[in-house]
Amino acid sequence: MVSIVIPIYNEEEIFHLLHSAVSTAMNSTEEDWEVVYVNDGSKDSSLDLLLQTQAADPHVVVVDLSRNWGHMGAITAGLRVAQGDAVILMDGDLQDPPSVLPEMIVEWRKGAQVVTAVRRSRKESRKLLAFIFPLFHKFFGAMSDYPIPINAGIFGLVDRQALDSINSLQEGNRYFPGLRAWVGYKNAIVYYDRADRVGGEGKLSFMSRIKYAFDAICSFSYKPLRISAACGVLCLGIGAVLALSLLAGNVSVYTPLIAAMFFLAGLQMICLGAVAEYVGRIYDEVRRRPLSLIRQVYGRSNAYGLQQTHSEELRAA
Ligand code: UDP
Ligand code: MG
Repeated sequence: MVSIVIPIYNEEEIFHLLHSAVSTAMNSTEEDWEVVYVNDGSKDSSLDLLLQTQAADPHVVVVDLSRNWGHMGAITAGLRVAQGDAVILMDGDLQDPPSVLPEMIVEWRKGAQVVTAVRRSRKESRKLLAFIFPLFHKFFGAMSDYPIPINAGIFGLVDRQALDSINSLQEGNRYFPGLRAWVGYKNAIVYYDRADRVGGEGKLSFMSRIKYAFDAICSFSYKPLRISAACGVLCLGIGAVLALSLLAGNVSVYTPLIAAMFFLAGLQMICLGAVAEYVGRIYDEVRRRPLSLIRQVYGRSNAYGLQQTHSEELRAA
């Protein structure tokens, strides 16, 4: 079975359009499917619409959260409830076109375990965001310590094994596109043109986007921590050049003072960099990400106490 997980926050204007587009796309495939709508504390009639749809359509599962937890909170809940052998994540505003769902399923059927939908182009009527998104993706691509496909959001498919790995991660500040790339497994990419929102207003606040950008950078890059050490080395270098110019006799009365300032600032920044290394390691330890993930062990069944994956349990049932 294929599950589609969709977070819903105040989407009453477009919900019917969304559900019929998803149903049409999924019925065009041969797959058994369910769609898991996660109501993220909507204040409009979204929950009523979801429940009516659920009563009428056996494909629908509704998860109602206790309050508004934000995009990532809603997604995380949906991924834990979804029962599919493959799970597709998409936004509920039809910016992620349902016509791409069958393409992702084809890649999964061909053996891919993680299918990332990468934006070939992006329609964005909000000018500021249209300007910021590509900048962020370029910057993140340069910062990330681990190769993560850029121009990709949550839209994509993960199979049961990859999903169980993602679900087992305990970290709270989650950047889903990063985690999806980080778990590894057999990857494939499908390209799509990102549409504009079909109706209603964008639901993510500017501050929540900034937090998400920090989540992305802090959880996949040590570079910001190392910047102070690098600046410290630079300052020491400048201090050393100034000190040498003292020896060469080419000085003003201020040169020794300035050289001493650069030396001290450099030393301080290097010490800060040393502390930052420890902070980074503490962050790694508290996140408790596994050091490696096994796809399969050949030649021994259930060796090393590997857990049966959820999909195996489903198949056995
Ligand atoms: N969403 C959510 N909780 C929130 C904000 C948004 O579940 O607190 C949902 C929203 O209904 C939509 C998806 O997350 O299905 C993406 O939100 P939106 O389209 O507003 O984001 P944007 O396109 O502005 O990035
Ligand atoms: Mg959107």
